[in-house]
Amino acid sequence: MNLVLLGPPGSGKGTQATFIAEELEIPHISTGDMLREAVSKQTELGIKAKSYMDKGELVPDEVVIGIAIERLKSADCQKGFLLDGFPRTVRQAEALDKALSESGHKLDAVLNIEVADEEIINRLTGRRSCVDCKRVYHLVFEPPQNPNFCDACGGKLVHRSDDTIETVTNRLKVYKEQTEPLISYYKRQNLLKSVDGQQSIDAVFYDILTVLKGDYA
Ligand code: ADP
Ligand code: AMP
Repeated sequence: MNLVLLGPPGSGKGTQATFIAEELEIPHISTGDMLREAVSKQTELGIKAKSYMDKGELVPDEVVIGIAIERLKSADCQKGFLLDGFPRTVRQAEALDKALSESGHKLDAVLNIEVADEEIINRLTGRRSCVDCKRVYHLVFEPPQNPNFCDACGGKLVHRSDDTIETVTNRLKVYKEQTEPLISYYKRQNLLKSVDGQQSIDAVFYDILTVLKGDYA
């Protein structure tokens, strides 16, 4: 299946992506993770992206479209993929449609995880992310056994530098202005499937599998 995960920052896209990717045996592609990797390696892309990410702004379309479309050409994406955090603008969505149709593919569904703003702030200020396997935890809602190390791989857990209240507030504003229009974009294409993201992690996953039933298995 070719899937997109949509939703505000902190809605649980990365958390659910881990489960969905395992269940459907498709690669989880997070443009945020790809960009953070580039920042930590100080590549040309990383140096360019860092100033936008630090402020909670979107990295320019032409940069992100390039890396996402390139990634989708890899062999492991030919039997399906799960995009997390891409597209984030109508221009990115149009570029994705074009690239998929040129290679004879199309999206099967867009999962929209709905969560209220107040909850987002709680989630992101308590989020901890593994620098190695990228698994995410929450100090209260999904605590790791040791607050400094990942249960899954033993990697170091960090509080992302863009998870401060100031940056999260801007990321939410950017989401509403630039990403929310994708909800109607995908509704028009009859691809949008919304789920209530303010339930337990297991309940959200159950709802995702339920709305996808008929499209897979
Ligand atoms: P996104 O990828 O959309 O930015 P994450 O998956 O990283 O969001 O989740 C943000 C934070 O919220 C993490 O700390 C995660 O552990 C926590 N979280 C995710 N889903 C839930 C949920 N259903 N209930 C409570 N906390 C959650
Ligand atoms: P995320 O890990 O999805 O929360 O993304 C972290 C940051 O990376 C965002 O705040 C943006 O600065 C940048 N980013 C990730 N994906 C995109 C995208 N599709 N378009 C533009 N910027 C992005």
